[in-house]
Amino acid sequence: MTDNHAPVLRRAAELAIAFLDELPERPVGRPVDHAAIAAALERSLADDGADPLAVIEDMAADADPGIVAAVGPRYFGFVHGGAVPAGVAADWLATTWDNTAGMYIGSPAAAVIEQVAADWLRQLFGLSGHGRDISTGFTTGCNMANFTGLAAARHALLARHNWDVETQGLFGAPVLNVVVGAEAHGSIFAALQMLGLGRERVTRIEADDQGRMRVDALEAALDRLDGPTVVCVQAGNVNTGAFDPFVPIIEACHAGGAWVHVDGAFGLWVTATNEQRHLAEGVEKADSWAADAHKWLNVPYDSGIVMTAHRDAHEAAMTISGAYLVKNEDGDRDRSNWVPEASRRLRGAAIYATIRTLGRNGIAAMIEGCCRHARRLADRLGAEPGIEILNDVVINQVMVRFADPGDDSNAATNIFTRRVIAAVQRDGTCWMGETIWRNQVAMRVSVSNWRTSADDMERSIDAVLACYAAERKSS
Ligand SMILES: *Cc1c(COP(=O)(O)O)cnc(C)c1O
Repeated sequence: MTDNHAPVLRRAAELAIAFLDELPERPVGRPVDHAAIAAALERSLADDGADPLAVIEDMAADADPGIVAAVGPRYFGFVHGGAVPAGVAADWLATTWDNTAGMYIGSPAAAVIEQVAADWLRQLFGLSGHGRDISTGFTTGCNMANFTGLAAARHALLARHNWDVETQGLFGAPVLNVVVGAEAHGSIFAALQMLGLGRERVTRIEADDQGRMRVDALEAALDRLDGPTVVCVQAGNVNTGAFDPFVPIIEACHAGGAWVHVDGAFGLWVTATNEQRHLAEGVEKADSWAADAHKWLNVPYDSGIVMTAHRDAHEAAMTISGAYLVKNEDGDRDRSNWVPEASRRLRGAAIYATIRTLGRNGIAAMIEGCCRHARRLADRLGAEPGIEILNDVVINQVMVRFADPGDDSNAATNIFTRRVIAAVQRDGTCWMGETIWRNQVAMRVSVSNWRTSADDMERSIDAVLACYAAERKSS
């Protein structure tokens, strides 16, 4: 194979630019014909290779009908985020350099890019300047960030009982209590199942009507529990966007020596704003934090962040050794010490470029703008007879219910709400998903993309109202 890289890389850039140019008007939720997509992409494994230019062009064309316009300005499903162009470009460069960002010796520049990005993130999250030494790792997502933070907790809490969990495992170890809120994200349970801590042997703490952990219930549980304890709290409930009350929770936990881990996948980003920062008051006193960059920082997948205030425990839980793995004397430079992966891509590059491009003010404006759009949607939809907003809209999450004009029972409202959601998805102006909150079906809206403008929001609200009106008429 000859190295003729220019044409294929140029073509990929052109295809990417064409995709983004078309994005604002691309139908957000296309009807998908799975059989057609599969028929286009499924080719028999060939003995002989193909022209790289044709491979890339075919792949772009064949995949296109099944590519969701999730980075577009009117996609409000899950908590997705878009990708700021500088972050995409930095990601391309990182891929092109193809340096392993695990060891300093493998790529000094990769290590320094991630160290600088980590320092900026600590400042943005308000975690620096409190006299604590905060360790940082760049994971594939918040799921692995939760795993890593809880692995550090497991190490530290058992080490206090003279148990080295990394060498001895959990067999015969002191019992480690895990406390979670009733509304903890599934990711916490995924981390617990991988860490041998078990999804079901947790103590669940009652939540209030917004999904916030109840402090009185937590205090009662902590009084009952004996021995090492980790408490998982949440910055940003996936349905309501609500924050656990960190100040009293962390005080109660630390009084008894418990470790506090914060799942802040998207919610932790309010610490970088002026308008919503108060919601996360006290979060800086926790022991470990997990967040995503690919959600609200708007960098490409896959990109998560883990931080702890216990550098030694973090490193002990993640480090890997081997005779040929030459360690740097400054362990912070060997970026694999802070994440589950050994060899790894330089995912910090997209974070570095995105933070530089936006600056503190740009990041605050992006997050505050999303919250303003969510508020506007809740206000306009909530003003309509028969439409109910189920949550206090504190950040970017809104849950909406649509009452059946002929029958306002809970069951009928569930069915009618599903009909409106399906109509909105078919319409294609915007895309919103479904959730179940306290046994009630709701349309779930998450505004997390830097591209969404006030005009996009009005268009989307108009489309939802039109779908609602049409469903009422045909009901
Ligand atoms: C998205 C999310 C996760 C999981 O993060 P991934 O990026 O999917 O790995 C965990 N917790 C919360 C609250 C989330 O919103």
